[in-house]
Amino acid sequence: MKNNLLVVVDMVNGFINEGPLADKNINKITGTVVNEIKKAIQKKYTIIAFKDCHMPDDAEFKDFPPHCIGGTSQSELIPEVKSYENNLIVIEKNTTNGFNTKAFKNLVKGNIWDNVLVVGCCTDICVLQFATNFNEFNKNHNRPTKIFVAENGVYTFDNSEHNAEKNHQNALQRMQDLGISVVSLKEKTNFQMHNEKTR
Ligand SMILES: [Zn+2]
Repeated sequence: MKNNLLVVVDMVNGFINEGPLADKNINKITGTVVNEIKKAIQKKYTIIAFKDCHMPDDAEFKDFPPHCIGGTSQSELIPEVKSYENNLIVIEKNTTNGFNTKAFKNLVKGNIWDNVLVVGCCTDICVLQFATNFNEFNKNHNRPTKIFVAENGVYTFDNSEHNAEKNHQNALQRMQDLGISVVSLKEKTNFQMHNEKTR
């Protein structure tokens, strides 16, 4: 049986439902994300959910307005995902890159996964950093782990200085260029990442 991992990045209220960095359009991936969580539970795959969660004086607030402060609803998983919380390994992070968290590094030490599917937000920031760092790590350690990113399971925010669709597509291309498989997930396919249709 395949030893697979689903990684859900930052499906928190502070990036989707409320606060200075939230964009409700990201909800367009919520159905796909929940569907993948359900399939992964059924197949008994490991599921990690990264959650942006800050202290009020975190260094990241030099670059971004304060967001996702621990203990506020912004740092909570969105309700659609939170209802599966008991099945998730929730990892809090205080920078954009979940790969560098102690909790993830400890999990990686003890586990070599065959396939990793990444969903969540934002395509061009936290998803891109996690997927490319993990991919590089696997190559560096000669691990066979294959990283997949679902093009319809990740998305990014839109504003006057940041075109969502353009940044989403550019980030997918960048990840593909670096050896990550960008796949399109169909509603009813099984969670067999190695068989998913590639772009
Ligand atoms: Zn943050």
